[in-house]
Amino acid sequence: MTFELRDRDLLGRIGKLKVRGKTLETPAFMPVVNPMIQTIAPRRLKEEFGCDILITNSYIIRNHFRDVPGMELHKLLDYDAIIMTDSGAYQILVYGEVEVTQPEIIDWQKQIGSDISVILDIPTGWDIPREEVEYTVAKTLERATEALPLIEGSDNLWVGPIQGGKYLDLVEKSAKAIGKMPFDIHALGSPTEVMERYNYPTLVDMAMTAKIHAPIERPIHLFGAGHPNIMAMSVAMGYDLFDSAAYALFAKDDRYLTVNGTVKFQNLQYLPCSCPICRNKSPEDFRVLPKGERQKLIAEHNLHVTMAEMEIIKQAIVEGNLWDLVEIRAKGHAQMSAALKTLSNYRKYFEENSVGFKGKGLFYYDYNSLHKPEVGNHQKQLINNYKRPVGKEILVLMSEPKNRPYSGNQGFKKLKKRGTDPRVHYCFFAAPYGIIPANLAETYPLSQFEMARPLDYETIQHTVKSTVEYIEKYPHKHLVAILKDTPLDNTLKVALKDHLKEGNFISSEELGDKDTMESFEVLLQTLN
Ligand SMILES: [Zn+2]
Repeated sequence: MTFELRDRDLLGRIGKLKVRGKTLETPAFMPVVNPMIQTIAPRRLKEEFGCDILITNSYIIRNHFRDVPGMELHKLLDYDAIIMTDSGAYQILVYGEVEVTQPEIIDWQKQIGSDISVILDIPTGWDIPREEVEYTVAKTLERATEALPLIEGSDNLWVGPIQGGKYLDLVEKSAKAIGKMPFDIHALGSPTEVMERYNYPTLVDMAMTAKIHAPIERPIHLFGAGHPNIMAMSVAMGYDLFDSAAYALFAKDDRYLTVNGTVKFQNLQYLPCSCPICRNKSPEDFRVLPKGERQKLIAEHNLHVTMAEMEIIKQAIVEGNLWDLVEIRAKGHAQMSAALKTLSNYRKYFEENSVGFKGKGLFYYDYNSLHKPEVGNHQKQLINNYKRPVGKEILVLMSEPKNRPYSGNQGFKKLKKRGTDPRVHYCFFAAPYGIIPANLAETYPLSQFEMARPLDYETIQHTVKSTVEYIEKYPHKHLVAILKDTPLDNTLKVALKDHLKEGNFISSEELGDKDTMESFEVLLQTLN
């Protein structure tokens, strides 16, 4: 197997996965295909929907076709791209057991030509006591160890599942242990039930824990994740492969998927979609159809919207906008917004892995944007690496000018000419970064960003807090503040009450105006 990375943003990545002479671009969505009931024929999945991979169940195929000589998966499904097979673990989750041994199902998957195959793991269910979860983790690791000699030398890729459910310490243990074994791909088991309950914050904790502790160079699959509204976030967390039957299952109940969530078809007055199924159609055109036919069309729409979302995500990775997309999608559902907050607890990993400059400005919508890696990276560098320049005893903190880069602002240039004191260290103050030293103001991303206004409460608090933190870490002999009458500046003024003498404060709406320059010049002369 080779897995090459082409581009990345946050923990998300565009990769090329090669298996048995076929190549797959990731992140990729694989529709779940029931070999017995094909909602959409696999050949059409590839030709009309662009699905270069699908997933089917080797256990069900074995139950029906085990006696057919020369059974081959791609011929059976009439599909020549990549086929992943599950082992029957899902049936264990639903029915408690399966009538097959691990050596039998491993051998069967090899025999029928599966490209990506799964060992017979024991999925962790939901709402079960910790002891049982511990059992599923231990038993899956035992099965994985037993599988190694059986899969050695086969040309298909093997998936080592990670279990542990909502018990994050068990997820960590599972990911670390299976990561030491020579599997090609890892997969986080059983998030389906978490997603069905819309418990997205828990999903984020589970997914991040598995991702952090599994080998980063291997592709990782989020089992059962297929609603388009969570894909951007899942890709941002570093997941490469997704599978779901949601497109077909939801259609059975007349549920229409959108990137913002699920809509009951009966509530639609318009079709908010440009896929080949919906374009130039109205909901009425679907309602007059027999139920079976309508379901089929809704399933096709559901799959189109899912596949299109993958393309949107990949383009966002290329442009370095993935966080923006995650935020936009999170607004569609209250639990998604909660999940975004949970995700921000892991921002250290995003900052460490962020590629930084992608040649475009950053856009900050609201406090959620504070977790963009660029903000954290700037503040970390400022606190840890940027010491105040030697001999600069007077910190002059100025409210941000209207245009960027701030150091090019005419008012600032005039003010600087009046304050020729060599002891002055000029810094700007702006949301969301806090302190921006004038000599760094032309660097990315400080020179190129847009902030949505008015600022929200969290953004103001965050900006002020990081500014005070810098001032306390690098005390100057004198602090001068030239601030505007805005909620942000007023909050800063209050927060600086222990550091800022009343006389060292200048209220000014424009750095270059006459009053400001005169007050500043006079003030400097009093500081010694
Ligand atoms: Zn559509």
